[in-house]
This record gives sequence, C-alpha cells and structure tokens, in this order.
Amino acid sequence: MHAATRTAIYRRLRAANPAPTTELEHHSPFELLVAVMLSAHTTDKSVNAATRILFPVANTPEAILALGVEGLKPYIRSVGLYNTKSQNLIGLCRQLVERHGGRLPGDRASLEALPGVGRKTANIILNMVFGQTEIAVDTHIFRVANRTGLAPGKTPREVEDSLVANTPPEFRKDAHHWLILHGRYVCTARKPACPTCIIRDLCEYRHKTPAKKPPRGKPGRLARAIRGQRGARARNMPGSSANRAPGRRATARGLDVSGGPSVSGRARSLRRK
Ligand code: SF4
Repeated sequence: MHAATRTAIYRRLRAANPAPTTELEHHSPFELLVAVMLSAHTTDKSVNAATRILFPVANTPEAILALGVEGLKPYIRSVGLYNTKSQNLIGLCRQLVERHGGRLPGDRASLEALPGVGRKTANIILNMVFGQTEIAVDTHIFRVANRTGLAPGKTPREVEDSLVANTPPEFRKDAHHWLILHGRYVCTARKPACPTCIIRDLCEYRHKTPAKKPPRGKPGRLARAIRGQRGARARNMPGSSANRAPGRRATARGLDVSGGPSVSGRARSLRRK
C-alpha cells in the first residue's frame, strides 16, 4: 500500500473518532491489566460483567491475592476459561506484590513474565499506561490489516512489525484502538459493512461486500410521470381497446349497444324469473 493511502486511512479513522479508547471498563492501571488479561478468548462484554462485581470488592493485587483462587472464581465465572484465568490472576497478583511492590512494571520482559500476560497484553499496557507507541494485534486488527492492505502478514507478529514500521508516528499511539474498533463494528469477519465503510475507496480488499439493491417500492414522481405518458400514448394508438367501438366492452358486461340488455343478459334474467 502506498504511504499516502495509509495516511489517508488513518486520517479518516481519526476524524471519525478523535479520542479512541478501550471498551474494557477500568479506573486504574492495575484494573486495566486485570481486564485485558481476562479478555483473552472472550468478549469485552463478559469481562465488564465480571469486573463490575469483582473490582468493588477487590481492585488491588493484595486484595485479589487475599481472595485466593477459589474465592476469586465466583466473580469471574462469566468469563471464558475462568478456571485457568483464576489461577493466573492469583499468580499475577502474587508476583506484582513480591517482585514489584504491588505496582505494574514498565518493561516488556517483566510484564510478559507475569502469569497469563502475553505479548498482546504487554503491548496494551505499554501503550495505554506507559505511553509507548506499541501496537497490539488481536484477531480484529489482524483481519483489518490484511484486508485493507495496511499491514499484510501471515502471523500476528508479522502484522505487528509491519504496523509499527509503516504507521506514521502521529497515528501510532491510537492505531490499535482505531483498527480494533473498525474490525469489531465495521470490517467484521463474516460480513464486512463495505458499502458504508468510511475507507472503502482506500481499502485494497478485493472481495468487498456489494451494496444492497434498493427495495422495489412505490415509484417516484418521475417514474409515475413516464408511466402515465406511456399509458396515454398506448390509449391513443389505433386499435387500442380504448379506441374500439364502445358497444364491445359494454356487451361483455351484458348490455346492448343500444343501451338495453344484450341477448345473453336477457337470457340470464329470464332464467332467474
Ligand atoms: S471496505 Fe470492507 S473490507 Fe475494506 S475496511 Fe471497509 S469493511 Fe473492511
């Protein structure tokens, strides 16, 4: 993709959403880390449902550690893989308390050493908490980057490296959120909303969803006028039913040309009598 096209795509995404952010509810860096860690292989909605009941009870490493694995499970039961995630979250809290004084470490190696934290989660924390221009690649971003041509790649890491290398610096901080939201709500996996997509003309995807044909409703004024003119022309043509002798149609309804009942009409009325 040409650099100018890439810039144009980000400009449009920024114009549509100047201050993008995550949909995971949080009020502190630690809450964000917990929410992102829980969001692996599950929806933000189910994570928010869990953290809404967990965080009022425990929103620090020490408090969650005090719950223990079994005490934590009931709070995050709505999240997929909650058994494993309960163990990881307790391990994560223990490590934060024992090695980092209960605070989030600001380097990739320490973050990725936390149980349940991989490269994607570390990138989000480095970006959102520590202001680094890392770009986390999830399933939505992987799809959008490949379809549009922004950063084609066979693996999330390839896409990430390409995005980091080719995203203009002014967009790098927010690129993750723009692309994830675009993939979640517009460029969806099954049926991308190409006809209404704001970057349709810049996107290089060759199998764009076609626009729907307009429904066949009531004809517009112009169509009605044309239809009316055609009808008038047909009526004025020699031999049209409108130009035939008036008696023929009247006879078909059982009336004589002269105005009295026709033969068949008279026969019917005699039978009735
Ligand atoms: S035009 Fe279609 S394929 Fe391209 S980004 Fe938009 S929704 Fe996705």
